[in-house]
Amino acid sequence: MTTINRDVIVVGAGPSGLTAAHHLAAAGRSVAVLEARDRVGGRTWTDTIDGAVLEIGGQWVSPDQSGLYEMLDELGLETYPRHREGSSVYVTPTGERIVYDGDDFPVGERTLAEMNRLIGIIDDLPAQIGAEEPWAHPRAAELDTVSFRVWLEGSPTTPRPSTTSPCSSPAGC
Ligand SMILES: Cc1cc2nc3c(=O)[nH]c(=O)nc-3n(C[C@H](O)[C@H](O)[C@H](O)COP(=O)(O)OP(=O)(O)OC[C@H]3O[C@@H](n4cnc5c(N)ncnc54)[C@H](O)[C@@H]3O)c2cc1C
Repeated sequence: MTTINRDVIVVGAGPSGLTAAHHLAAAGRSVAVLEARDRVGGRTWTDTIDGAVLEIGGQWVSPDQSGLYEMLDELGLETYPRHREGSSVYVTPTGERIVYDGDDFPVGERTLAEMNRLIGIIDDLPAQIGAEEPWAHPRAAELDTVSFRVWLEGSPTTPRPSTTSPCSSPAGC
């Protein structure tokens, strides 16, 4: 067994853990970061797929993310504007390539309605919880220990997608 002696042990080498460790080390504390995976970064992750460098997780920085901007400055990293001009491309689950304009994905009406309904729920829940004392919310413990998938599948307001209803549109129904 390996024994680690440090002032602080940080669990998780995602952005939060690495930031905490960075601040602790800067304050003169000795720190060890324990990470379950074989890489750092957590849900921020850059990978190369078919020769293309792709961001698999977090990549956007919005103007209100002032702490993130401070970190980018400290690391000497640059941002560039998101490309918003022109048409977009959507590749359907069956591999069809659809070029479209506007903000809505070119999916079927039912899928679009379900996406918008879920976005409404996902916007509403953090608004109820608030950023100041999220731990004080009555459902904090429950929501803090559930993955998004399990939450989505268990949400009583989320109807199960039908596996029996026929859907022949490549863009979804
Ligand atoms: C697809 C996707 C796109 C995103 N896009 C954006 C974006 O554009 N802009 C943005 O600001 N945010 C974005 N996010 C959110 C952003 O990635 C997260 O907010 C951020 O990664 C959270 O950092 P974290 O360190 O709190 O958690 P995580 O990144 O989840 O890191 C937690 C780490 O802890 C490790 N860990 C967990 N439990 C243990 C344990 N018991 N022992 C050891 N290690 C453990 C995990 O393996 C992981 O490495 C996106 C997320 C995803 C998935």
